[in-house]
Amino acid sequence: MRTLVIDHPLVTHKLTALRDEASDTATFRSLTAELVTLLAYEATREMRVQPVSVATPVGTASGVKLAGPVPLIVPVLRAGIGMLDGMTRLLPMAEVGFVGLRRDEESLVASTYADRLPTDLTGRDTFVLDPMLANRGAASITAICLLAAPEGLRHVEAAFAGDEVRVVTAAVDERLNERGYIVPGLGDAGDRLFGQI
Ligand code: URA
Repeated sequence: MRTLVIDHPLVTHKLTALRDEASDTATFRSLTAELVTLLAYEATREMRVQPVSVATPVGTASGVKLAGPVPLIVPVLRAGIGMLDGMTRLLPMAEVGFVGLRRDEESLVASTYADRLPTDLTGRDTFVLDPMLANRGAASITAICLLAAPEGLRHVEAAFAGDEVRVVTAAVDERLNERGYIVPGLGDAGDRLFGQI
């Protein structure tokens, strides 16, 4: 597994505003979309391309286009939905699948309650918005998270040992607290995105 922490002034600036408990829902939503687009720019860096040429008004230029098959974006319900717009802005042709994860409040163990993924992920570049995803033969799996905790990274590493998995995040924070929240984190991302605070 590879972890990529995007250490860029714009990313850190927006993440700081996102963390601020004074940021209201509208601000939180737009900052999330902007941050995801910035993270996606790095997360898509290794996508495969094929050469093409195009006729410009004054000649012929060599260029590239993304190679098939079309990428797959998988927002993890619920908070991952708030990251979808920022991602499809860069990959408008992508297919979108869904995974729903529910976390038991006592044991903090996550279980899957919804799974709408294509059965054949062969050769697909797959971008998970807010981990996790079971590997079904995708060419690469990239989890895009606004924030990561060291415990979460260790968990992904153990779960996907040997697979081509990357985590792209704006920061790795200190730890999880006893309720499973990232510290200092940004609170409950779903509640803040969907106006439930
Ligand atoms: N989910 C959240 O919304 N926030 C956390 O800190 C951890 C999990």
